[in-house]
Amino acid sequence: MGTPGQFDELTNQSPPYEDVDLFATDQPLWDAVAANGAAGDADALSAFGRCWGTAEMFELGRQANENPPCLQSLNAKDVRRDVVEFHPAYHLLMASSVGERLHSSSWTAAATPAAAPAQVARAARFYMAAQVETGHLCPITMTRAAVAALATEPALAAKLMPKIMSRDYDPRFEPWWEKTAIMLGMGMTEKQGGTDVRANTTRAVPAQEGYAITGHKWFMSAPMCDGFLVLAQAPGGLTCFLMPRFRPDGSVNALHFQRLKNKLGNRSNASSEVEFAEAFAWCVGEEGRGIRTILQMVQLTRLDCAIASAGLMRIALAQALHHARHRSVFQKRLADQPIMRAVLADMALEVEAATALVMRLCRSFDLAASDAQEAARARLLTPAVKFWVCKRTPAFVYEAMECLGGNGYVEDSLLPRLYREAPVNAIWEGSGNVMCLDVLRAFAREGEAARGVVASLAEDAAGLEDTRERAAAVITALAESKGEGDTRIGVEQLAILAGTAALNTNAPPVIAEHFSRARPSGMLGTAGMGAGDAAVLLERALPA
Ligand SMILES: Cc1cc2nc3c(=O)[nH]c(=O)nc-3n(C[C@H](O)[C@H](O)[C@H](O)COP(=O)(O)OP(=O)(O)OC[C@H]3O[C@@H](n4cnc5c(N)ncnc54)[C@H](O)[C@@H]3O)c2cc1C
Repeated sequence: MGTPGQFDELTNQSPPYEDVDLFATDQPLWDAVAANGAAGDADALSAFGRCWGTAEMFELGRQANENPPCLQSLNAKDVRRDVVEFHPAYHLLMASSVGERLHSSSWTAAATPAAAPAQVARAARFYMAAQVETGHLCPITMTRAAVAALATEPALAAKLMPKIMSRDYDPRFEPWWEKTAIMLGMGMTEKQGGTDVRANTTRAVPAQEGYAITGHKWFMSAPMCDGFLVLAQAPGGLTCFLMPRFRPDGSVNALHFQRLKNKLGNRSNASSEVEFAEAFAWCVGEEGRGIRTILQMVQLTRLDCAIASAGLMRIALAQALHHARHRSVFQKRLADQPIMRAVLADMALEVEAATALVMRLCRSFDLAASDAQEAARARLLTPAVKFWVCKRTPAFVYEAMECLGGNGYVEDSLLPRLYREAPVNAIWEGSGNVMCLDVLRAFAREGEAARGVVASLAEDAAGLEDTRERAAAVITALAESKGEGDTRIGVEQLAILAGTAALNTNAPPVIAEHFSRARPSGMLGTAGMGAGDAAVLLERALPA
């Protein structure tokens, strides 16, 4: 805070955006939730939105990021400790998210998918939590996703699921069986490669009751998790393992943290470099099938990346719109200046699409077990949606920052933290090009099913300008690909087609029309919609 002075009277400054119901004030979220089968959850979602939208929760987010975690490698006598200490605010955020079961509500106690609309209902909560603080959502995401891999080992899953399903948050550094609740992380990336995990050099050899693993991981986030899914080279090839922090005999397992990454953003979350010195682990899935086993988990982490990025865009939009409604320039509210209105309305359009896209994708996950076409949608669209939504976020947050002028560039506002956080979801869990290659491979592998998904999207978006041409462009770039060079063109068009289709089924028709016509355009504020449509979008985004 600055020194009090004679010019302290505050004029023309916007009040803080806090103590809001993050659900009730967000019509696009409401519509997307209802269109995807979770309307019955509205009251509970509103209670969640009120709780997470309080000034106290935003303050926890600030504190957790301004007081990043510290590694304690050794004690005073040089004995290994290998623990990471977090600020109490981080623990409170974790307790809130675990209490709401953001880490487990899409599973049953038997490690099978929970009934619809579990994915949509969870995603709506995750989207709101991401508006407050995203760093702590890393272990939340990894824990829920890890169950997909664990499910391949029913005996192991049966032991761990009761601890994973708990609403308690138990951060004690104790053996997992002595805790009320546990969290899981993952370690795949090594120095020589994160994308190309086949190049992993970490070795696993059979040992008593399991395997002994020796090697390193270049990134392993949330190191105080109780166990980690790791990839290592076993005698039968690259294999997935679960490595607990404590050995079955109760001694501390040999995970030695070298340092914590000094990251651009995502500061509340610790990301470690770690060595394994004959660390104990259980095999998960068959030897040599590590990539296949872990891929089931990766689909879910990719989905969460897209949901969290949509949430980041939403909170950036809310901050920008709130500020513009309270700030005047040239005797007019900023929100009523025509160019600013065009920018804000275009941003609202972008968030409408991102929200509709991720919620519709969650619907596909909800229905995948019983509907082959929805399963194909989930497979094809997860990398496309992750690619598009996560890639749009950094530029979007920057534009929101500019709406706040100089205040947006100052750390007291939320925008610098959002800006630092914005790129990470595009980078981890499969970076942009990797997502595009994934979509291309899906077309090559399941050509008919992939074409069927494009046809069904075109049907959902029927009658809108550009739909037919866009669907054709997707097929040309991806199904009839002449090489990898044009893949981004096809994946971008696929994401826009899916966004238009999702909007067409859950928002007023004019919104899908504008989205289909105005995208792709990198520049926000160029959608060229009339004043009436802009007013509709802005009122839906945040009631005045
Ligand atoms: C904050 C943070 C936390 C993380 N936490 C974890 C964690 O908990 N566990 C974990 O295992 N990892 C973690 N990671 C690592 C992350 O998943 C990797 O950084 C990511 O997978 C990319 O791997 P890489 O860094 O080795 O880059 P590379 O694999 O070297 O890729 C570099 C670039 O090349 C592109 N590229 C790759 N292959 C191709 C190709 N064939 N054609 C064209 N372009 C290509 C990629 O898209 C990328 O842009 C974390 C990363 C960050 C930033």
